[in-house]
Amino acid sequence: MEVLEVIKMGNPRLREVCAVVSEAEIKTNQFQRFIDNMIATQRAENGAGIAASQVNILQRVFTMEMEENPRYPNKETFPLYVAINPIIKPISNTIVDSWEGCLSIPGIRGQLPRFKSIKLSALDRYAKPYEIELDGFAAIVAQHELDHLNGILLIDRIEDMQTLTFQKEYEKYWM
Ligand code: ZN
Repeated sequence: MEVLEVIKMGNPRLREVCAVVSEAEIKTNQFQRFIDNMIATQRAENGAGIAASQVNILQRVFTMEMEENPRYPNKETFPLYVAINPIIKPISNTIVDSWEGCLSIPGIRGQLPRFKSIKLSALDRYAKPYEIELDGFAAIVAQHELDHLNGILLIDRIEDMQTLTFQKEYEKYWM
């Protein structure tokens, strides 16, 4: 497995809409290696999730996982999900204020609205369809990663720009 380079805000590739992945391509060794590398990169960077566009591949796939993570102390854990061609639908209209960071915007946090509960429909890494209901932090991470596949960054969704903060100031004034 290989840790891939994470591209940063300002790189125009992060603003592109990613392409649907075909079932035939998912089953190739090359794509399977890519999934392994995304998981390795997410873990090496202590990310809660990572989207393919963040490693400069414009395909609709993200991974997410939350075990013990120094970037997110006291967060609920969730298992590893690989989501290919994902679709997200809110389960309820409840909106939560979400403090988010991003591996492509290092050292920055901001607060934005997200749906509290969602249904994620996607293909797994073997091209098998699945549906799962997610709540709380896992639901937020899935929405954040899906945004990446549509060229949207967390800063686009911040409603009160006074919450756009550096990590240290977030810890000092907002946590
Ligand atoms: Zn991100």
